[in-house]
Amino acid sequence: MSLAFPSAHYNVYSMPSAGIYIHIPFCRSRCSYCDFATGMYEGGIAGRYVSALCSEIKAWREVDKPSVVDTIYFGGGTPSLLTTSQIESIEAAIHDRFEVADDAEVTLEINPGDGGASDASRRESMSQWLAVGINRASFGAQTFDDRDLKQLGRTHSAADISSTFQQLRDAGFANINFDLIAGLPGQTLDGWKRNLEAALKLRPEHLSLYLLDVHEGTPLADQIKSGMRPKPDDDLAGEMYTTMIEEVCAAGYQHYEISNFSLPGFESRHNTKYWSGAAYYGFGCSAHSYDGARRRWANERDAAKYVEMIGQNGSPIVERTNLSDEDARAESIFLGLRLMHGIDLRNYEARFGTTLRSEYNGELDRLMEAGLIEIDSQSLKLTERGALLSNEVFAVLA
Ligand code: SF4
Repeated sequence: MSLAFPSAHYNVYSMPSAGIYIHIPFCRSRCSYCDFATGMYEGGIAGRYVSALCSEIKAWREVDKPSVVDTIYFGGGTPSLLTTSQIESIEAAIHDRFEVADDAEVTLEINPGDGGASDASRRESMSQWLAVGINRASFGAQTFDDRDLKQLGRTHSAADISSTFQQLRDAGFANINFDLIAGLPGQTLDGWKRNLEAALKLRPEHLSLYLLDVHEGTPLADQIKSGMRPKPDDDLAGEMYTTMIEEVCAAGYQHYEISNFSLPGFESRHNTKYWSGAAYYGFGCSAHSYDGARRRWANERDAAKYVEMIGQNGSPIVERTNLSDEDARAESIFLGLRLMHGIDLRNYEARFGTTLRSEYNGELDRLMEAGLIEIDSQSLKLTERGALLSNEVFAVLA
C-alpha cells in the first residue's frame, strides 16, 4: 500500500479534505494511568452503542457542504473489540453520509494480545479488518518491559507486542504505529533505550512517543501520592526525549511532530489534520469536531447518556465554541508549532491579515536567542531544544 501524503511544505490552509474520528469507549480492563472516556466492554452495550453511532452519523447535518473525507480513525478505548460486522456498519454509515476518497487512510487502534483471544481468531480478525478497508493499525505497545506493563495495568506482555506485530504483518498490514510512553515511575534511561531498541527492531512505519502525563484521580496518581510509586523525574524525562530523537532519527525515521516519528511517507494523515487546521468530524461519546474555520463542538462524554440522547432523537452535542480572531490565531500558532516544519508565515498572513513578526517581534527575538525557535522568510519552527521545552514557547506565543 502506498500512502499519498503532502510534502513538508504543503499549504495546510488550502487542504480541502477532512478526517472522521469514531470513538469506541470500551476496554477489557482499566489501565492505571488512563483518564479517557472508556468503560468495560460488554457485548450488549457495545451493540446498542454502535447503532446509536450509526444513527448519529446518518443524521449529521452540522456542516452544509462537508469536505471530502480522506481519513477515518477508529480510536478509544479499544475499537478492535468490535466485531467486523460492527466496524463494517459504521463504515457503511460514513459512506452513506460523506464522500470518502478512494485512497482514504483508515486506522484502527488495537491492543496487543487483545484480551487473550486465540491466535487463530486474532489472525482471522486481522484479515477481516483489511477486507473491510482498515489499512493502518495503531497499537498501544506502551513499553516492552513486563514489569512496567503490569504496573500500568496493561493486559499484554512484551512478547504479545512482537507476536501481534508479526500477525499484522502476515495478514498484510503495511502501515503500523506503536504508541510508547517514556518517564514511567522507576523507569531508567537504560530501560527507555531498551524500549526504543525493541521497537526499532520491529520497524513499524510510525512511532508515537509520549512522556507520561499523570492525571489527577487516576490510580497511578494515587499510587504516586501515597509513595507507593516514585514521582516522575522531569530531568530524566528530558534526557529520554533527547535520546529518543537521536536514536529514532538515526534509524531512518523523520521527526515530523513533537511526539511523532515516521518512515518517509508514513506520517499519520489523520493526526496531521489536528495540527494543521484541517476539518475533522467526530462521532461517538466525547468526540470533538472542528469545521476547519471557526466552529468547534463536542459530544456528551458519558456513553450511556450519549446513547440515550441519540435514542430521544436529540443531538449528542453538549458544547459549542465559536473561535474569535484571537482564539483562531493562538490555536494556529499552538498547533502549527507542534509540526516540526512549523508555521508557514505566508499562510498565516493570508489567513489572519497580520504577520507574526508584527505581533510578537520582541518575543520572537528572545525565543531565538534562547535557541528555542528558528525563523526565516518562510517559516517559524521549533528547534529540537524548543520541542523539548515547547510549553515555554507556547506560553509566550499562544
Ligand atoms: S486501553 Fe487505552 S483507553 Fe483503555 S483503559 Fe487502557 S489506556 Fe485507557
